[in-house]
Amino acid sequence: ILSVNNLSKTFKSGNKELTVLKDINFSIEKGISCAIVGPSGSGKTTLLGLCAGLDKPTSGDVILNDQKISALKESDLSAIRNEQIGFVFQSFQLIPTLTALENVMVPIELRGVSYREVEKKAIDLLDKVGLRDRVTHYPTQLSGGEQQRVGLARAFIHKPEVLFADEPTGNLDGDTGSQIEDLLFELNKDEGTTLIIVTHDRELASKCNRIIELKSGSIISDTTSPVEQTETIQADLAQ
Ligand code: ATP
Repeated sequence: ILSVNNLSKTFKSGNKELTVLKDINFSIEKGISCAIVGPSGSGKTTLLGLCAGLDKPTSGDVILNDQKISALKESDLSAIRNEQIGFVFQSFQLIPTLTALENVMVPIELRGVSYREVEKKAIDLLDKVGLRDRVTHYPTQLSGGEQQRVGLARAFIHKPEVLFADEPTGNLDGDTGSQIEDLLFELNKDEGTTLIIVTHDRELASKCNRIIELKSGSIISDTTSPVEQTETIQADLAQ
């Protein structure tokens, strides 16, 4: 579903250049969960942003569902983002002037679906993330964990084919973090959403089918979990 070819990214500030990603190559099959791990500053967030079309590479390509998203212009990209991609940010990125419910509705509000239908979906999702009684609250009236859960409900509303999550449990306490984790893997299992998660949390990473490890802008390991391998072998045998 996602293929990254010879991807490099160099940031320029003044006359200084910083190469953050160096010749990255991998591809991810539809429906799996993949963690991107590595030390702080190794380029994880930059890589996720390039994969989601939020930024352009210095060289190389990102191909999502057969479309070279690294070469698309913003108007085409935003259509793909609205239809195929969900993004969960560590810093929540909710719109402060909208209620929790309105924030969740944003991704599909403009798509010609009836308001009532979107509203019902959004309420169901907020219920699912444990925020049924917070629908009319504004972001400033919500705790960090609650805002994170609104962000997640918003990312789920259009059932994206791929969900990119940057430290989805990073700012949360253990219980809230594991609720969010459960929701992510539920979406992966029930809807077949491909998950690509940047995380420092080794335990969360170990629950993913695959772990890509970055160091200083290069991939130093790429491991597929034994469970996944066993399933693949079983699927092959069944054919
Ligand atoms: P962390 O785990 O701390 O979030 P990370 O692995 O996600 O780190 P990135 O956020 O991808 O790392 O950053 C990689 C490097 O690129 C860092 O040294 C950062 O300072 C630099 N960097 C990121 N964005 C920019 C930018 N827009 N302009 C210049 N440098 C940048």
